[in-house]
Amino acid sequence: MKTKMETTDANTGASTDSKDDATGDTIGESIENFWEKPLAELNENEWELLCDGCGRCCLKKFVNVDNDETVYTRIICRYYDESLHHCTCYEDRVNKVPDCLNVKTMNIQLSNWMPDTCAYRLRFENKPLYSWHPLIAGSRSQMEDEDIAVLGKVISEEYVHPDGFEEHVIRWITT
Ligand code: SF4
Ligand code: SF4
Repeated sequence: MKTKMETTDANTGASTDSKDDATGDTIGESIENFWEKPLAELNENEWELLCDGCGRCCLKKFVNVDNDETVYTRIICRYYDESLHHCTCYEDRVNKVPDCLNVKTMNIQLSNWMPDTCAYRLRFENKPLYSWHPLIAGSRSQMEDEDIAVLGKVISEEYVHPDGFEEHVIRWITT
């Protein structure tokens, strides 16, 4: 497979450590069904809560120049903590990983780089969240049933030679 981007990760607009409790106290600071508002109208708290912490955006990916398809691998950024499902260097992420993109700067081109389940991409495209999203379902259990999170299915980039990325292409994430 020919690739035109050997980058990389990722994209997160949120410090995902609050995503376990996407409902409850934190949501009390936000208006009801805020996730239906346009992204530009979300306050900081609402923006953070929108992320489901799936980790999919932190996987390495390529663009196949033969067909312009974005192809995901199961290789995940070294700074992603699988068990806590969040970035371990969130505040400093763009310094540590220059290709780590911020969904706050998302445009049409960047949105295609994100998984099609991503809450930010969905709302950017004016689509509703999936019913399994913790904000709607009330917990992460439906999200787990749908196998959305990367937990247990990925390998850290620390253990993969850069020349071997193409051996880890996956098809369970689409864009
Ligand atoms: S630096 Fe953090 S947010 Fe960026 S790709 Fe790595 S784990 Fe994900
Ligand atoms: S893909 Fe979207 S919803 Fe999932 S962790 Fe990344 S930014 Fe959050």
